[in-house]
This record gives sequence, structure tokens and C-alpha cells, in this order.
Amino acid sequence: MERFFKGIPGSGRIAFGNAVVFHKSNIFIPRYGIEQDPKTVEQEIEKLEAALMKTKNELEELKLELQKDHSPLETGYIDTTILMLDDPLIKEKVSNHIISSYLNIEWVFNEVIEDIADKLSASDDNYFRERAPDVISVGRKVLKNLLGSEEFDIPNDVENPVVVAHTLSPPEIVNLYKKNVKAFVTEIGGKTSHVTIMARDLKIPAVVGIEDITKHITTGDSLIVDGTIGTVVINPERDTISLYTYREEKYEQYEKKLGELEEKKSELKDGVEVLLLANMDVEEELALIDKRNCTGIGLFRTEYLFLNRNQSPTAQEQFLIYREIIKKLNPYEVTIRVIDIGGDKKPPYMDYYEEKNPFLGWRGIRYALSHKEILKTQITAILKASYFGNARIMFPMVSDIDEIEEIFKVMEECKAALSKQGVPYNSDLPLGIMVETPSSIILLDRIADLVDFVSVGTNDLIQYTLAIDRGNGMVASEFDPIHPAILRSLKRISDIAAEKGLETSICGEMAGDPLNTLLLIGLGYRKMSMSLMSIPVVKNIIVNSTLGDAETMAKNALELSSKKKVGRYIHEEMIRRFSSMEDYFRQNV
Ligand code: PEP
Ligand code: MG
Repeated sequence: MERFFKGIPGSGRIAFGNAVVFHKSNIFIPRYGIEQDPKTVEQEIEKLEAALMKTKNELEELKLELQKDHSPLETGYIDTTILMLDDPLIKEKVSNHIISSYLNIEWVFNEVIEDIADKLSASDDNYFRERAPDVISVGRKVLKNLLGSEEFDIPNDVENPVVVAHTLSPPEIVNLYKKNVKAFVTEIGGKTSHVTIMARDLKIPAVVGIEDITKHITTGDSLIVDGTIGTVVINPERDTISLYTYREEKYEQYEKKLGELEEKKSELKDGVEVLLLANMDVEEELALIDKRNCTGIGLFRTEYLFLNRNQSPTAQEQFLIYREIIKKLNPYEVTIRVIDIGGDKKPPYMDYYEEKNPFLGWRGIRYALSHKEILKTQITAILKASYFGNARIMFPMVSDIDEIEEIFKVMEECKAALSKQGVPYNSDLPLGIMVETPSSIILLDRIADLVDFVSVGTNDLIQYTLAIDRGNGMVASEFDPIHPAILRSLKRISDIAAEKGLETSICGEMAGDPLNTLLLIGLGYRKMSMSLMSIPVVKNIIVNSTLGDAETMAKNALELSSKKKVGRYIHEEMIRRFSSMEDYFRQNV
């Protein structure tokens, strides 16, 4: 029987495919019966013993390696992990379970691990609750060895795979993209969490934030994923398939029509140009981006280069990547953002403290400035690549002037070292910061005297201004870019920029939503960076509007002081002006 689930529309259009359900460990685990005799059971348990031993050996090796340049405090967690692997309780539970179910060891082991993690998560004690992800992560290491396969293996017999998971990390998303996955469905996440942003930038349909969806879907189920409105249909009936096929055809036709805009300049009817640039997360996207579909890269999130590996990319590796992008987009600009490590983007080989609030902790520029070697390596690579085209450097999460002064110092050191070696670079490389903390807006009049440009990161700006976790599906409906406080902040930024002659753009997800296009132009923004797939839709709004339309909309919106009223006004106004997009605007209320 078909079933419908509603989540948060993450990305893309409509995908049809078959489910591959990842368990909490994010591994596909096969489930099959085994022979009901003691010998077979013993053989299965032996497989587990071997996997446990292999995992322990790997951890011991890792510990030895890390001990070379890390403190015992930092490597202590490995000892705890090894102790967990020796826990007799796990072995006892596995033995009991396999004898009662006669299922394969991989399945049984995973069930035991998830059961322990669920019990820990439900505990009243904070300490136990926080151990639940550790149990999942240890289990994942063992499962990898037990299955003897890569973590992200997709079964060969599933055509058009749609991955259903609790959540997915950036490296997992890239791997799945390479394996031609048709769509993602996840249990957690919001409109600006990394799964959503990456899926959007890679043009993969995604629906996020459907609680317990991994329990409702079984591998092999046929699925429809509608990334435009956030629905997932399990085992759809014929009529439903016809309906969604019709809708997908309509979207396709609409996109084709928008494709005709490619040759057209992005300007309002009265000739005012609004530059549309692309956001880029991973090198793989470069194949999708070119000078025909955008006028540069307004945000290259370089931290993803650091995530899918066991150590930081070398200066040479980074240089080659930056140079390739800069050359491909030349003469258009490429804004390379220095690593925004921390929060939910933590390469496993880097050091962290255990943080209660990682998004308020060791993140962005704070993390980069306290890891000078990594920072200098990256800045040097960017400087070297800047020689080959129109590059710019940008720093994330800046919240005070001292940080900017420290950045200047590091920049000068890197430039001096290159000059000494006689390596060419652009000595006037434009330097900017992301405006994404309320503090940077409060200080913007001072900051404007120091930097060449700023780009507004609304994803974090909304999170920090409204105190709403950007990745938390529970509060996703409150995460509203048209909140009056955000509109006032955006206005202040553009007013200061105009007064000080500071170049300003906007690169948060807000810029890619056509609902906001006129509002942002009316607030003074003439340059926006967004996921590639949003560019034609946003351009369509621009070429069919005047500056007067945009200014009226911004003026009226700024006069309203309730979020609901602003929302209603913008929706009504956009539907009135663009009736063919009514469905889109209504669904995204
Ligand atoms: C933002 O915060 O709006 C932004 C563009 O940066 P990121 O999404 O990488 O935090
Ligand atoms: Mg940000």
C-alpha cells in the first residue's frame, strides 16, 4: 500500500527510484536468514570476533600514529573506544539475538548496537545520552570490517537508488553523488543544513527532516521524492506515479524555458544589472559550472576539501584545485572562502574539544586563527592561484576587528614568504569577510574601513540573530529569512555599504529563493551568490521586474513588524506578479 510522508523540501525536483536504507551507522546492511544449527551460529560469531580484533588493531595503530604529535589527552578517546569493543555485554547480547532470530551477524550486531544507543539516548543522565553517538560510531567501524566493504556501498541490484538515512556527512554525500544516487531522504536537517545545501549545489533532489523515516522504508521499496514540496511516497500506486510524472514533466518544460534565459543579461527591465554567481562546495561541481550559467563563484566553501580524507590537503593539492577553478571562470571572479571548520564540519584528523555548543564554539575564523600552519598553507595556495585569474579571499564567522587585524598579519607573512621565493601572486588580492554574526553588523561601519568587500551569510546570520539552530528540523519553520529583524539587519548592511562604498553581496541560501529576489534588490543588493540550480529561476524574476517594483516591496516589507505579516505580504505580492509560480510560492510558505 502506498504511504505519504511530509518533510522539509531540501533540494531539486522530483526523483523516482528505489530505496537503499542506511542504518544509523550509515552503512547498507544486508539481512538474511542463516541455517539454524550451532555450527553456523558459531561461524557467524567467529566472523564478528575477527572484525572486532581487526578494529582493535586499527585503533591501536591510529593511536600510535596520533601519539607522535598529539597529547595523551587527545588520544585518550581511542582507549575508551577499545574498551567498548571488549565489552562482554555486547557479545552476550549478540549471542542471544542470533540464537533467537537466526539472522546474519551483520544485521544482528547492528540491531544490538542501535538498541544500546537508543537506550543511552533515552537516559535521563546527560553523560549517558552523550555516549550514544560514540556507540554508533564504534559499531560503524566494526561493521565496516565485518562487511569487508566500503562504507557507502550501494547494492548492485538496486536500480535508481534513493538513499534514506538518519543524516549524511559531506564526504558521504560526495561519494553517493559519484555513485549516481537519484535522491536523498534524511531524518534530520533543515533548509540550510549541510545535506540540503550540498544536495542543492549538486542538483540532487532531497527531502530532509522526516522523523524515523528509516524505520518506515525498507531497502528495495519504490519511492517518489519530491524535493520541491518535501513529500516522499513509498510504494506509489499507478495514479500517483502518473500524477508525479506529469508534474515532473511540467518542471522539466519550465526549466527548459528558463534555460533560454541563459544568453540574456541578468538585469531589471530598467537596465539595472544584478549579478548572479554560483556557490560551490566541492570540486565535483566544477563540471556543472561554467561561464554561461553564472558570472563567477561568489562562495567556494573550501572546508569540504578537508573533509573527505585522512589529512589536510597539501599546499600543492590546494593550489591546483584553486587554479583550475580560477582559470575556468576567468575573467569572472572566484571568491575562495578560507576553511570554516567546526560546527558540524569537523575533519576527523583535526583536533577539537568536546563542545556543548559547537556552533558557538571553536568554529570558522577562531578555529583557523588557532591553527596557523593550516591557515598559512591555505592562504599561500590561494595567493599562488590568484596569479591565474580573478580571485578573491574571504574569511568566515568574523566577529571582531582584532580577528581582522590578525588576518592581515598572517596575509602579510604569507605574501612576504612568496615574494622571498620569487613566486608570483596577486599582491592586491581583494580581501573580504562574511557578515554572518550580529556582531559583524554592529561593527560594520568600522569593518568597512578595513576590508575590500563583504558577503552576507544569511544561513548563520539567521541562526545567530534569531537563536534558531539552522540544522534542527524541529524549529525549521521558525527559521525565517524574512523575519523583520533579518530585514532590518540586511538594510543596515546595505546602507553602511552604500555610505562607505563597500562592495556587498549575499551568499546565504536566502539569495537562491526566488521569493526573496525582489525584496533583496529593493534592500540594495546587486550581487547574489546561490546554488547553480536557482540561477535561472531568480534571473526570470529579475528580467521581468523593475527597480521600482523591488524598492516598493522592500519599503512595504520594512514597515511591517510582524514576521507573519511580512510573510503574507511577500507571498501575495510575488503571486500577484508571477502567477505562473503560484504553486511554488504557496508550497514554500
Ligand atoms: C551562511 O552562513 O549563510 C553561509 C553562506 O555559509 P555556510 O552555509 O557555509 O555556513
Ligand atoms: Mg556560514
